Amino acid sequence: MKKIPSFTIDHNRLCRGVFVSRRDTTPGGDCLTTFDIRMTEPNRGTPLTGPVLHAIEHLAATYLRNRSDWSDKVVYWGPMGCLTGNYLILQGSLSPADILDLLRDTFAFIRHFEGEIPGATPHDCGNYSFMDLEGAKAAAAAYFDEILANPAPQNLSYPR
Ligand SMILES: [Zn+2]
Repeated sequence: MKKIPSFTIDHNRLCRGVFVSRRDTTPGGDCLTTFDIRMTEPNRGTPLTGPVLHAIEHLAATYLRNRSDWSDKVVYWGPMGCLTGNYLILQGSLSPADILDLLRDTFAFIRHFEGEIPGATPHDCGNYSFMDLEGAKAAAAAYFDEILANPAPQNLSYPR
């Protein structure tokens, strides 16, 4: 089978950051941009854990869908199976610079979050106790301070 494009990125040189994974046009003519929200260095840094990414998933999805200026463009937020980051799909032909402020707000929301994680109940989620809020807050803080606050060029475009 053909190797799909996201498996052709050189993960040995990929940094943490915010990357355009792909842009697709739907049959209806809408452009969708898939972002790679990479929080740990592939194969070099310590990956996140499932419970950390799950807590981030609930908090980020809730935050993004409550942002009135962006909510109607949010298609999807979800964890990567390799536990090094997340995918964010937005309507529109977008670049990392277009969403840096939105991501700063999202990860600030996560790092300072207190209380019950939205949707972390047996009614709302398929594995509701599989959550690590303190770990999510620490990972969000590190990603904010070390990457989002002042990203370098290698944090915003894939290695060539
Ligand atoms: Zn869940």
